[in-house]
Amino acid sequence: MSTAHLHAVPRPTDLVELYAEAPLPTRHGLLRAIVFRERGTDKEHVVAVKGELRGQESVPVRVHSECLTSEILGSLKCDCREQLEHALDLIGRSERGAVIYLRQEGRGIGLGNKIRAYALQARGADTYEANRALGFGDDLRRYDIAAQMLKQLGARSIDLITNNPAKIAALEAEGVVVHRRIPSLAKTNPHNIGYLKTKRERTGHLIELAEQKTSA
Ligand SMILES: [Zn+2]
Repeated sequence: MSTAHLHAVPRPTDLVELYAEAPLPTRHGLLRAIVFRERGTDKEHVVAVKGELRGQESVPVRVHSECLTSEILGSLKCDCREQLEHALDLIGRSERGAVIYLRQEGRGIGLGNKIRAYALQARGADTYEANRALGFGDDLRRYDIAAQMLKQLGARSIDLITNNPAKIAALEAEGVVVHRRIPSLAKTNPHNIGYLKTKRERTGHLIELAEQKTSA
């Protein structure tokens, strides 16, 4: 185990350590990119931070799980890219905030299994039926890592950008103080409307499926 920690003396319960940090000019203004590594591995997660979070209350935060298919390939099967852009735009316009980007593709089942699930969906299964057919639970995402990242960033309480009540509960169970919920954007298109409706019906997502109006 390495003993060269510049920032703090690690407790054995720490799952992540701050590995790198730099200013990052973005389309959403000047942010800071902060990379955390899962201790004892080379698995990395990144936070885009605006302003100073330490000691602050009600910091707008999105805890976002990687979605390569929509964010990189432009897939219309989900709304992850829009939610990510919405959150980055929101923190960019705020005095402070953070988007925690967790590398847990496909609700935690990984990219290859996600595409296998898509193959089943192409033959008529919904998201949850497909995951179960592959032997996975509905949602393998974990939030203990995000909670520890938030703790190290020093925010006292957050306003979580989400439509997912289970995510609020999971973070609160890890000791995060969630002051209130900021609704996340959910834009519909002909390819994701079924997915969004299933998500709302099966998992209690608080999704408003009304047409989104874009401001001029
Ligand atoms: Zn997605």
